[in-house]
Amino acid sequence: MSVQAFSLGRFHTRVAFGSGAVTRLPDELDRLGVHRSVVISTPGQRVNAERLASMLGTRCAHVHPHATAHVPVDVVRAACAATEDADGLVAFGGGSAIGLAKAVAVASGLPVIAVPTTYSGSEMTAVWGVTEDGHKSVGSDARAAPRCVVYDPILTTTLPVPLSVASGMNAIAHAVEALYSPDRTSLVSLVAERGITAVARALPVIADDPGDPAARAKAMYGALLCGMSLGCTTMSLHHKVCHVLGGLGLDHAGAHTVLLPHVLRLLAPAIPAAMTVLRRALDAPDPVAALTVLADVPGVAHDLADLGLVESQLDYVVDRVAAAEFPAPVRATRPQLRALLAAAMRA
Ligand code: NAD
Repeated sequence: MSVQAFSLGRFHTRVAFGSGAVTRLPDELDRLGVHRSVVISTPGQRVNAERLASMLGTRCAHVHPHATAHVPVDVVRAACAATEDADGLVAFGGGSAIGLAKAVAVASGLPVIAVPTTYSGSEMTAVWGVTEDGHKSVGSDARAAPRCVVYDPILTTTLPVPLSVASGMNAIAHAVEALYSPDRTSLVSLVAERGITAVARALPVIADDPGDPAARAKAMYGALLCGMSLGCTTMSLHHKVCHVLGGLGLDHAGAHTVLLPHVLRLLAPAIPAAMTVLRRALDAPDPVAALTVLADVPGVAHDLADLGLVESQLDYVVDRVAAAEFPAPVRATRPQLRALLAAAMRA
């Protein structure tokens, strides 16, 4: 094997991982000198966020349980006002809570400490975004990168099976795009491959038994690796289409789940090396088929119509994706994009 030259500068988030790791959160805040944090969560995770806040004692000023999907700008403004006196942001939840904390951090410079409860992987990236007037803009900013991530797999045992599977597919999609990104390195590809394998092995076990601690730990470890690979590379066609759909309000993990096999089918001829890694990672001769089977779980969206997209929105999505700048192994033409979306519309 020949080792090519590379540079790598983004593995600097401190990670505490393990069953019960959440009990180490007070120490992590002390280490960062955070004395008046605000815990940010979605409304659905409020009770658990308040439990976490009690554990933090005086290190937590209050809970802000108002994070919503795709980080709307008005939600960011309200969160900025609610965290004016804070000296740190504890993001407790999935990508929505973490995304809101990141947007506040970019505006305020406050450090983010993430306690993920899904497999979104957002906690391992500096990628942040906001949605305004149906348009989701995404960028990268060092201030958005969490300073510390506390991964406790026990926190994911309450995540319902359909959400677990869709979130796991979201994680896998990060690693898949890392495998063909222009700034991939041999090290990142290794991380991505291991991440895909871990998530893909864990999801069927979780679908059978959502409380299985070993499978939950494996999925979370895989999500860490997949998020890490995303954090080191530049996103491509798959994420671009998902961001446009996110601007329209579609569920993020669901959009990733539906689109991944379709995008991979389109790009496969142009990414032979990535397809070889995927065959190995998924232990399957046909990665597109394997990913479709992996997501075929009751309650998980099968197509974009399931997620609420209507036919009349397809041309808008094609226009937005066609007009966007992003690296891709092969530039999809407008007819190809239209055909991809039409196929994903009704599976
Ligand atoms: P989410 O955070 O919106 O969570 C989905 C639902 O699950 C919410 O209702 C939440 O309350 C609930 N939930 C979360 N954890 C739970 C648990 N353990 N038990 C029970 N319920 C739980 O969804 P998500 O898919 O994690 O995140 C989506 C958002 O993250 C999108 O806005 C997306 O753009 C962003 N994202 C960003 C990045 C990045 O690198 N910046 C990466 C992935 C996703």
